[in-house]
Amino acid sequence: MTKHQLIKKARNEGRSLLTEIESNEILRQGGIRVTEIKLATSREEASSISKRFGCPVVLKIASPDIAHKSDAGGVKLGLKTPKQVTKAYDDIMEAIRQKHPQAMIQGVSVQKMARPGIEVIIGMSKDVQFGPVLMFGLGGIWVEVLKDVSFRIVPLTKRDAGEMIREIKGYPLLAGYRGQPPVDVSNLEELLLKVSDFVEQHPEVKELDLNPIFAYREGAIAVDARLILEEQQDKESG
Ligand code: ADP
Ligand code: MG
Repeated sequence: MTKHQLIKKARNEGRSLLTEIESNEILRQGGIRVTEIKLATSREEASSISKRFGCPVVLKIASPDIAHKSDAGGVKLGLKTPKQVTKAYDDIMEAIRQKHPQAMIQGVSVQKMARPGIEVIIGMSKDVQFGPVLMFGLGGIWVEVLKDVSFRIVPLTKRDAGEMIREIKGYPLLAGYRGQPPVDVSNLEELLLKVSDFVEQHPEVKELDLNPIFAYREGAIAVDARLILEEQQDKESG
């Protein structure tokens, strides 16, 4: 399905939260580098997809009712064998049944375990006065506890992108510290500009979250994506 069909489908189902799989596909079509992902609707299918991808893999709950997958017990990382994959599938289903008995479950998403990198995040939310605003920060405690993030109004200039990355307090972690190699900052700048373009081209998207993106010495890849659509103004035009 095209990104527009995916958006339309969610709207027809009365949903504004897109699943990780839908968000991943829409952003991929928008030119943003996201992890390869496949839906499995049974433990057997999860196992066969993991064989095709090659272990280690990650399993995540695929449900339009669950925005925060790990909080729900819906993420299993570093699965090394088909046996671990089928067990993880059962464990996720069990956890979701307990915590979200009403949730509509599509299955699980299967993706390759990405090699470790420095976790960064890019977000978009809409400000009443300024419209869409992009946020950049380092992942984990840097954003949750220290609120070490930067903001710019969409559309971003190249200069905005460069400044956003360099002005966070954690920037030295990206620039390379204590013998750690630096990450590919120019690739992150390009990524911010691509997200800015995507946001401009999709006014129907209300919120966007790439959390986390793994930043490497060369390149970067988003391993989680979440899009939220605007409430529909006029049902006829959908
Ligand atoms: P959620 O944010 O909905 O809880 P995520 O998809 O972000 O779920 O997964 C939780 C954490 O698991 C991420 O922050 C990241 O550290 C790790 N993770 C997720 N996907 C991968 C992956 N493909 N490879 C490696 N680590 C991953
Ligand atoms: Mg996440």
